[in-house]
Formats: sequence, C-alpha cells, structure tokens
Amino acid sequence: MKRAKGIGLAGPQVGVLYRIITIGIHDLDFCLVNPRITPITLDCDTKMEGCLSLPRQSYTVTRYFQIEVQAWNPAGKKLHFVANNLLARVIQHEVDHLDGILICDKDVDLVCSQSPETTWPRRHREEYVRLRRVPDQ
Ligand SMILES: [Zn+2]
Repeated sequence: MKRAKGIGLAGPQVGVLYRIITIGIHDLDFCLVNPRITPITLDCDTKMEGCLSLPRQSYTVTRYFQIEVQAWNPAGKKLHFVANNLLARVIQHEVDHLDGILICDKDVDLVCSQSPETTWPRRHREEYVRLRRVPDQ
C-alpha cells in the first residue's frame, strides 16, 4: 500500500476475504476489523478520489465529513472513535470496498450524466471481480 502511495487498503483488494481494512495516513497506521461506520452529521463534501484497484483513474465522490467508527483491532480490542476530514473519507472508501462498492460506482459526474462513460463503472466492476477472484484449489 505505501509503496503504491496508497493511504488505505481493504482485504478484498488483495484477496483477503475478511472485513478488514488498513489505514496509513499522517502518522497513523492501523487496521480495523469488522468496521461499522455511522455518520455523525449529514454534512458531506465532494472531492476527487483515487484507488489502488483502479490505477491512474480518479472519480468525484461525496462522503460524510464526520463519522463514528466502531471496530476491533487485530488483537481483538474493541475500538470506538470519531473520524473527520480525510481520515473519515479514507475509512468510508475502504468500508465501501468491503461492501463491493468502488469509487466509479459513486462518481457524481458519471451517475448524473448520460454520456457513453456511464458504461465504465460496470467494466471496472467486472475487472475488479476478476482480479480479486480466489483461484480454485
Ligand atoms: Zn480503493
């Protein structure tokens, strides 16, 4: 993740089919297991986001500005905290991965337009599913 200059990664992105995400932002490096998020306010902001699963692409995504996070760390300790700004955005992005949602599915411009690019999200989604498929044993 760090080598690719990413600040978050979800298990399914690397073939780990558990609800686990890792965050590396500012001086923080931590994992969240089974994260649950709840918006604290309905205030949102809309910004460009990239994703390690969609190299060299960016999409305009609206996210809650402040969220409450409940999760466990890998050692089994229960965590409960509030995340704001970029940290809130990254956690929401990674939790979306756990739910099979990519930023191309949430792009404000694509969702609102009728241009041919509206076919892109399905292609990206199919490629993503192909890449994360676990090989037969
Ligand atoms: Zn991503």
